Amino acid sequence: MARILCVGIATLDLVFTVDHYPREDEEMRAQSLRVTRGGNAANTAVVLARLGHQVAFAGVLAAAEETAILVRDFQQHGVDTAPCVVRPGKPPTSSILLAPSGSRTIVHYRDLSEFGCEDFARLDLAAYDWVHFEGRNPDTLACMLDHLRRHHARLPLSLEAEKPRPGLAALFDRCNVLLTGRAFARALGHGEPRAFLQALRAQAPRPLIFAGWGETGAWALPGSEAPLYTPAFPPPRVVDTVGAGDTFNAGVIHGVLNGWPVDRTLREAASLAGRKCGQVGFSLVP
Ligand code: ADP
Repeated sequence: MARILCVGIATLDLVFTVDHYPREDEEMRAQSLRVTRGGNAANTAVVLARLGHQVAFAGVLAAAEETAILVRDFQQHGVDTAPCVVRPGKPPTSSILLAPSGSRTIVHYRDLSEFGCEDFARLDLAAYDWVHFEGRNPDTLACMLDHLRRHHARLPLSLEAEKPRPGLAALFDRCNVLLTGRAFARALGHGEPRAFLQALRAQAPRPLIFAGWGETGAWALPGSEAPLYTPAFPPPRVVDTVGAGDTFNAGVIHGVLNGWPVDRTLREAASLAGRKCGQVGFSLVP
């Protein structure tokens, strides 16, 4: 099993299940509330740890009481938070409304500074076999990638691109695996996965590209060959799709680290993500 570092943010998620999406100014009661740790790279770290890898998470933890919830969750899943730095502020917080239509409406607040390039450069990166980044601040990310190129040029890298951000696409070709999906495609005006993947390939000849496409399945683009597709693996009952993409990403990293062919990696990652949708949180994955 591999030693993996995941770099991103850890959030406090307040997940409300509601019986309808509220009207503006409505006062309504939620059917359930779950207070939990979230964050894309943080979720991916937890799933990778559950898949048996030795995983560490690097991010900023707020010097606040609520941070205990996040740290406890990481500990329960065996994710090492030693690479984190602690700074004043509140944990980034997401209010997530899960409506019967399957929609996930998220209101996010953050005032905490981001994990910086100087924080990253202080880590003992020789201790890892793989580094996974959440595609956040492109300037900081570029600096981290420069640091890796100078000091650990052979370390394999994955990058999650969930939302387009100015300057992010210029970094795609600097990683081994690019993890993206339907939300990113739609934000760029692409409705069709094949055309989206080919447009990415024109920008970035190097990485293996994977794209989650929600309940319709997932795609991969190994090289210049035709894209590969897998249907989704629906669980008996969809109960929680929060973090499906992060679980898919962990499944992809796991498959690539195991040396599986791209089609198997794609299928197994989608199957893992499907299983996750059938359960609340990540405890039972895989
Ligand atoms: P995100 O959570 O980032 O929005 P997606 O919704 O694209 O990501 O989900 C990632 C992967 O999870 C999909 O490619 C699919 O394999 C799986 N998945 C998502 N929603 C479902 C669902 N309702 N049923 C089964 N699998 C799903």
